[in-house]
Amino acid sequence: MRAIQEQNAFIMEARELNRLIETLAEKGYETIGPTVQQGAILYGHVGSAGDLPAGWSDQQGPGTYRVSENGDSSFFGYVVGPNSGKSFLHPSRETLMQASRKGDLLEFVDDPAPPERYALIGLRPCDVKAIEIQDRVLLEGLYVDRKYKERRDLLFIVTVNCAKPGGTCFCTSMGSGPAADSGYDLALTELNDDRGHRFLVEVGSDSGSELVAALTTKQATAADIDSAGRQADDAAEAISKSIDTTGLREQLYDSLDSPYWEKIGARCLACTNCTMVCPTCFCTNVQDVSDLAGNSAERIQIWDSCFNAEFSGLHGGSVRQSIHSRYRQWMTHKLASWEDQFDTLGCVGCGRCITWCPVGIDITEEANTIRKRAGQLAGTVEDAP
Ligand code: SF4
Ligand code: SF4
Repeated sequence: MRAIQEQNAFIMEARELNRLIETLAEKGYETIGPTVQQGAILYGHVGSAGDLPAGWSDQQGPGTYRVSENGDSSFFGYVVGPNSGKSFLHPSRETLMQASRKGDLLEFVDDPAPPERYALIGLRPCDVKAIEIQDRVLLEGLYVDRKYKERRDLLFIVTVNCAKPGGTCFCTSMGSGPAADSGYDLALTELNDDRGHRFLVEVGSDSGSELVAALTTKQATAADIDSAGRQADDAAEAISKSIDTTGLREQLYDSLDSPYWEKIGARCLACTNCTMVCPTCFCTNVQDVSDLAGNSAERIQIWDSCFNAEFSGLHGGSVRQSIHSRYRQWMTHKLASWEDQFDTLGCVGCGRCITWCPVGIDITEEANTIRKRAGQLAGTVEDAP
């Protein structure tokens, strides 16, 4: 069972969640949390606990996502929606610079907007891990993404541990859930049982400690801690998908010429959905756009995807003309070369790429198949597709 430090665990009644949101807003944070929008659970502005998706859950499978009301009073009874912390810290469209015509002169503004001070409330543990992975990419390499850093420095994270995993989750394979072990200011476990509707609160930072001091809480009992630990164990056991990552990096590198990539490529539409919803994918393009009159222009950074042909465009054309070569690039980056670059895998097992793939391509199945075929070639596995 997960070890929870007793002296660091508090109990907060469910009604106090509203006060938590209000206190963060009073401290100057823009409070972001899960909301029901456009037939999905999406992170957006939350002004009070009434904006949270109490009584809603989601059903997910390869190429399938539905939300429905379940009559439960739990605030966090869903899994994950299509967006994540990435939408706020590393948004899909970022203005880098603006220029406008002033008479015969051009005026340049290179930092049009001050950084947002976000409190992300209800992020799942896999999404907290995804932020830690993006930190390595955008903060710890040779080049620091200034806008990401400004927002990241101001960020407050309230994670909520998972009670019921979805049909496409595999965080246990990636060491990123179902309970958070780092990277948060506060970690909540929602307990809604015969002893009442309440949250077990774990503190992960000084800012988290300050916030708890402003709320009405009491020390958690051994029974509360036991309930939270059992909830995490039950959630871990309920996860049905997995990838065995032992030696996977080498097997992927050994399989670059496998004809199996073509089988995946024949199904893949190169729609880019998997990279757009992925909380760790970070690639961007930079474009200059101007108004029709030529009076103002801006330089924008927008998300890009390795599934776009132009993404690998060099002199003479795209390096990855075939769709299967783009899928191979994506999966091999996530599960192999990311480790060489950033000393971590590029996947947290959130399952979004499986859920939001219109043809239901499943990274766990494809990675396991590549593994099996590599084992078959090496004579350690008898049967592989
Ligand atoms: S590759 Fe898929 S499962 Fe892994 S983090 Fe990205 S969206 Fe989630
Ligand atoms: S794997 Fe699926 S989501 Fe990703 S580009 Fe191909 S069809 Fe789109």
